[in-house]
Amino acid sequence: MTAHRTSRREFMGLSGAGLAGFVGAQWPIGRADAAVDQDPDLVVVNAKIYTVDPLVPRAEAFAVKGGRFVAVGGSEEVRSLARKGTQVVDAQQMTIVPGFIDAHNHAPGPILLYDVIVGNPYDVEFVTIASIVDKLKARARTTPPGHWVEGFFFDDTKVQDKRALNIHDLDQVSREHPVSVRHRGGHTTYYNSKAFELAGVTKDTPNSASGTFDRDENGELNGRVTDRARNVFLGKGQRLTYTADQRQARNRDAHAFISKQFVRYGLTSVHHEGGDLSALLEVRDRGDLLHRVSYEPADDMVEILIAQGFATGFGDEWVKLGATYEHTCDGSFSERTMALSVPYPGVVPPYQGNVTTTQEDLNAWVERVHRGRIQVNCHANGDVAIDMVLTAFERAQRVFPRPDPRPKITHCTLINDDLLRRIKAVGAVPAPFTSYGYYNSDKFRFYGEELMKRCMAFRSFADAGITAAAGSDFSPGPFAPLMGMQGMVTRTGWNGETWGANQRISVDEALRVLTINGAYASHEEAIKGSITIGKLADFVILADDPHTVPQDKIKDVAVFRTVTGGRTVYQA
Ligand SMILES: [Zn+2]
Repeated sequence: MTAHRTSRREFMGLSGAGLAGFVGAQWPIGRADAAVDQDPDLVVVNAKIYTVDPLVPRAEAFAVKGGRFVAVGGSEEVRSLARKGTQVVDAQQMTIVPGFIDAHNHAPGPILLYDVIVGNPYDVEFVTIASIVDKLKARARTTPPGHWVEGFFFDDTKVQDKRALNIHDLDQVSREHPVSVRHRGGHTTYYNSKAFELAGVTKDTPNSASGTFDRDENGELNGRVTDRARNVFLGKGQRLTYTADQRQARNRDAHAFISKQFVRYGLTSVHHEGGDLSALLEVRDRGDLLHRVSYEPADDMVEILIAQGFATGFGDEWVKLGATYEHTCDGSFSERTMALSVPYPGVVPPYQGNVTTTQEDLNAWVERVHRGRIQVNCHANGDVAIDMVLTAFERAQRVFPRPDPRPKITHCTLINDDLLRRIKAVGAVPAPFTSYGYYNSDKFRFYGEELMKRCMAFRSFADAGITAAAGSDFSPGPFAPLMGMQGMVTRTGWNGETWGANQRISVDEALRVLTINGAYASHEEAIKGSITIGKLADFVILADDPHTVPQDKIKDVAVFRTVTGGRTVYQA
């Protein structure tokens, strides 16, 4: 905690008093100096500030002391707070918004840094199958036979060849190595013949409700394996091993690397799905952690935390224990394996997606975590899976009522009126995909307009009074918040197609989704998510105003500067 002496109650009072004065040209700053008991470290003036604070929605200037906002208001008044040691920044009428928050991100630093990347992680780009094979061949040449050769960030609708990647492509890479290419969506992987041989899978191996071995028109394995069916490859083949020190160094460098990527795009807080916590803390201690982390621990750590009595909220303003790692209940939106109550349009034989848990197992897990005072987080895309997680949440609250537990529904993609009502009633927080409206518009035809009207339903959530955050799910979606905003506002994708236009929200609503709602999703709305006196000084200076640029150019608005806790962590 920082050392300012004015209490939060007084800060809030000042904001409230300021509101009365916020009429015409009068900025609500009259007595901001009363909130500054020491010289500010930083004063920013002459800006177009969207605070995302309903009490004082717009401002021209703010002051920062000890990593927190200590004054928000008009340029003249805030400038007058500057003392000898104060850094004064003239924003020259640039736009400033609170630091963006990504409420679901796998932060795959080690993959980005050390593995074979076969697609563009950050933006729409079409690649060729030949380029994928070439990259994997190059890796195979330096990999001992019998060891895995793996590619990442494949996107089946961003391929110039206009056909699916298959087992024959990957057999070209190698017959001596097991080879896999993972779809960036994370729920399907393509394998070569050697991999199937090691796993003992043949064309006669049966599918199950939780995953499939896909076949071509002749009934032969085509290489694609979905969801839990991939478990047969666990423990098969060999992988390079590292000493504990080597692992720590690799993971540390990877965390530092991805932190730099996040702040380039204006993210100051990210909800991490697991990852090496020890390495993360080392990065923080070295001063290389540029964004704040709501750490969502994987299953094995959750069990330890429950046993030891740790609860959500443990930690500090940089690394804090958040909800759990997403507990996966169904398949993927982008890879078309999510669990639907209706068959996928046009798929033969009829297919309704994969359910990856039973209601009984889910109920037990949710109750155990909920009783442990750890925020529950379930991955549910399809309406069938969302129904299952709500059933488990409702039951857990019945048997063990807790105030305001905010169970998180990661993705929460396909909703209906009944699910909306239940989400609202149980106080769940949906975190739909940030960037799919723009990035994955090429996949919406697989669902069709009738379903897309109910997918990534930001409008429905807002109208129902449900606080929805947004999570990129990166790897699956690019994490650029402004790409996300453009898709939420336009529902028009990179290919010019518009789907589910009824779910459009305004720029201001999207800004809330990407800031304060993300803070709400981790119970941190009192300390971040808006430019408010007393909150952490996390903000982004944008070269243009997303409110006034053409809506199809929002994603191109440049991040000029990103500031976390008053410290500039990225400068264009
Ligand atoms: Zn995820």
